[in-house]
Parts: sequence; C-alpha cells; structure tokens
Amino acid sequence: MTSSKIIEPGSTLGMLGGGQLGGFFTESALKMGYKVVVWDPSTVAPAKRFATLSFDASFDDVDARRNFIKAVDASSLEWENVPVSLVEELESEIDVRPGSRSLGLAQNRVQEKSFLSKHNFDLADYRVIYSRSELNSVDLPPPWIVKTATLGYDGHGQWLVPNCDYIKYAKESMTGSGPWVVERVVQFEQELSVVVGLHQNGHTTTYPPTENIHENNILKLSISPGRIPTEVLKKAQELATEVVLCIGEAGVFCVELFSLKNGGILVNEIAPRPHNSGHHTIDTFTISQYELQIRALCGLPMPTPIMKGHSVLLNVLGEEMRELTSKPKWESIIANQHARIYLYGKESIRPGRKMGHILFHGDELATLIPEALETQQMLTDP
Ligand code: AMP
Repeated sequence: MTSSKIIEPGSTLGMLGGGQLGGFFTESALKMGYKVVVWDPSTVAPAKRFATLSFDASFDDVDARRNFIKAVDASSLEWENVPVSLVEELESEIDVRPGSRSLGLAQNRVQEKSFLSKHNFDLADYRVIYSRSELNSVDLPPPWIVKTATLGYDGHGQWLVPNCDYIKYAKESMTGSGPWVVERVVQFEQELSVVVGLHQNGHTTTYPPTENIHENNILKLSISPGRIPTEVLKKAQELATEVVLCIGEAGVFCVELFSLKNGGILVNEIAPRPHNSGHHTIDTFTISQYELQIRALCGLPMPTPIMKGHSVLLNVLGEEMRELTSKPKWESIIANQHARIYLYGKESIRPGRKMGHILFHGDELATLIPEALETQQMLTDP
C-alpha cells in the first residue's frame, strides 16, 4: 500500500526488528506522541524496553502477522533480514516504509549490485560466481574481497584474497552455497555514509556525510561531518540522494560510499534503514535520523535538519562493554563534558557485537578525535 495520508500522533507504529536502531526509533516515536509495536523473535530485544506492545513470534507466524496488521497503522523496519515475503503481505494492508523492494535489494548483494550498475552508479569492479571453482577463473586483478550474496554483516561472510596463491584457502573457508560477489579491493581515501530520507511526495532530506573508520570490517569510529573537501561532501550527498530516488520508496536509507583520491566516489552498499554511523544525529542535529524515519513513515514534513555541533562516535564492541562499565573507567568517561554514553541493553556479550556507543560532541574535531581515541585505548587495555 502507498497512501498519501498523514499518520497523526496518537496512532500506533510498527517496528520490524528490535535492535538498537529500533530502540532509538521507538524512543523517538514515544516522545512524538506515537505508540509502537515492536516485533522481534527475541524476547529480550533492546527496542522492547520502550514498546507499547511486543510480538515475540517468528517472522513467519501467520497469526502474529494478522495481529500485527490489526495493531498498527503503518510500519517501518530496522533489520535487513526480515523476510521480504512478510513485508509484501503487510504492504497489502498497511504502508511499510521502506518497503519490500528496497529490502529485497539490501538482502542480496548480487541484486543490489546489478540494480546499481543498471542505473549507472560507479561501483568497485566485481564478478559474480556461483561455485567455489569459478574463483580460479575470475578475470580481475587481485586483491579481492569475496562476499556472500546473502546474510553477510559486519565482515561476516567476507574473505580477503590478497593474491592468487590464496584462492585455495579462500575456497576452503568460504561458507554458504553461493552465489558470491568477488570484488576488487578499493584503495579508498575515506569511507563515507550518507543518510537520506525520501518523503512519499518525492521530497528528499539528507545529512552531511559521515566519515567511517572500520576495524576488522566492523564500524569503530564515525566522524561528523566527514573531513572531506566541500565539493566531495556535496557530491556524496547528491549521489546518495540519486540512489535513493532510483529505489523510489519512501523511508530513511543509508548509502555507504568509498571516496577516491582522484575525486571519484563509488557506491558500496545501501541500507534501507537508519545506520549506526548516524546515531550522532540524536545529539547533533535538530532532527535525528530516527525522527526522520518517523516523519517519512507518517507523511510528516521533512525539513533539512540543522547541525548543532561536530561529533565523533566510538562504538563499544563485545568485551569493551565490561571495561566501560568498570567503575574507574566509567567514572572518568562520564566526567568528560563532551562524552555521552549510550548502552543498548543487550543481555549477552559476543565478540564484535555492538553493545553501545560513546558520542563525543562539541565544536572542534581536533579536540574530540583525541578524546575518542584515548577512550578507545582505555577500553581495549584491560
Ligand atoms: P560491506 O559489508 O560490503 O559494507 O563491507 C564491510 C567493510 O569492508 C566496508 O565498510 C569496508 O571497510 C570493507 N570493504 C568492503 N568492500 C571493500 C572493497 N571493495 N575494497 C575495500 N574495502 C572494502
């Protein structure tokens, strides 16, 4: 369904997935006067801390689907692996933003890449292979990153092949039954992400690009605004907006990009939801990416958010959570006037799992970056 009606405060919004992104959405919706139904098969999903009503059934439960449709006026999503078939069923009765089309693209790298190439966006050179043995005949110069087409995240389902001697090891460690995308490693200057909102009336809203620094393929630091020349900043925003317009579904998206030394920009991937690299918008913009998601879902105006300061976001991963919550470290971080600690309420710690973040917020990146790096050091040194 794609209606043009406005969903007013007092209505009930659905959220498919109950992680930290869904949690921030739900908290924001409550502040704006909405109720939220969170559907996540995990009974301890973080977003359920704020939910008016929670669904714990698996996503293929037909009764839960019927009850969810009855309970909500419209729905958004925060998890890329929600079944497309569920979203299609929901769409026959209610607005889901973003919807099944963008979710389908995000769930399958092969489809995502062919969609982007078809629309003439620049990408890293890639090939698609359907069996491990095809790795031997890939006609691209290494190094490569081999990526599963489906169910990859945070570096899971990715294998680096630095040269042809490594093909045999990659074939042994590759999981899944294919297809896989074999991508040339890009010598990028920076990784950027741009959050874009698309209104049902075609109006778009973006934030300045964030500069992202990964460690072991997991997002570690996000710097806002990215330290890039103004023309690159503008080009990245325009490019991300074009990508979202090509998808053409109302909602909030994050477009991940590689900026190159020669001024070029490649599209890496699209997330049909707010992004971890956009958490800072809660503190540093007049409208957060979560409020934008609600506005896009409900058909409310989406003015350009005004920036209130610069920021460096430090993700707290896995065991760093224990270090953070140890008394002396906690006390010293929370005593810093620039630092705000966010913990997502996840019950179990797993290596690399995003447990929370610390946002360093102020006027000068030159102050905030060293503060974030010192804190990172403190959390990694037991
Ligand atoms: P992805 O899941 O595709 O976003 O990959 C996770 C991270 O791996 C990216 O954010 C990059 O840091 C790195 N990466 C992925 N693809 C490439 C590539 N073609 N060249 C260089 N780095 C890459």
